Amino acid sequence: MKIIMLGAPGAGKGTQAIMLADKYGIPHISTGDIFRSNIKMGTELGKKAKEYMDQGLLVPDELTTDLVVDRIHQEDCAKGFILDGFPRTIPQAECLTEALAKEDDQMDYAINVDVKDESIINRMAGRRACPNCGATYHLVSLKPKKEGICDRCGEKLILRDDDKPETVKKRLEVYHEMTQPLIDYYEKEGILLTVDGSRDIEVVFDDITRVLEG
Ligand code: ADP
Ligand code: ADP
Ligand code: ZN
Repeated sequence: MKIIMLGAPGAGKGTQAIMLADKYGIPHISTGDIFRSNIKMGTELGKKAKEYMDQGLLVPDELTTDLVVDRIHQEDCAKGFILDGFPRTIPQAECLTEALAKEDDQMDYAINVDVKDESIINRMAGRRACPNCGATYHLVSLKPKKEGICDRCGEKLILRDDDKPETVKKRLEVYHEMTQPLIDYYEKEGILLTVDGSRDIEVVFDDITRVLEG
């Protein structure tokens, strides 16, 4: 199963992607996580990506697309994968379509997690992230078992630099301008599934899996 998670920053893409990856035993590929781990390791890519991320802007396509195309050709992706945060622009989507088409292949679903901007601001302020495994929690709606500590790997949770309200506002603008057009793109490809992401995490998850298994 090859799945794309679409949606605004903070819509719950990552939360659902991790649950789907666990359920179906396929890798969760988050470009945001890949960039953050490069920043942590101090790589050239990390240095370049950070300049954009800190401002709430997208990392340029040429730094992003090849990385994902390489990743999905690794062995663990043979049975499928979940892309979380990629594609985010039409050119990225076109490159992905072309890369798969070369092997007579295509994505199965683009799941659009739909949440209004007003709720997003709330969610982001309460988001706490694990810098080690990429899991996210929320101060109110999804508390870790032990305060401030990741359930999955025991790392200390952080508030991401780019989750400050000013940066979130910018990221939402960028989302509407650059990423929202992908909803039409995948609607035309016939693989779009829109879910109402404003409901509880488990309800959203049930909705998605019902369609995937239906
Ligand atoms: P969120 O989970 O809030 O949607 P991500 O962790 O996916 O955020 O991404 C964080 C940042 O990393 C983005 O704001 C952007 O700067 C950069 N980024 C992630 N994925 C991409 C991509 N596909 N294209 C360009 N930039 C990206
Ligand atoms: P994205 O990957 O789209 O940026 P996340 O999955 O990181 O979004 O979720 C953003 C924040 O909202 C996190 O703090 C997460 O725990 C919380 N969250 C995710 N889904 C829901 C939901 N359905 N209801 C309430 N809070 C949610
Ligand atoms: Zn963790």
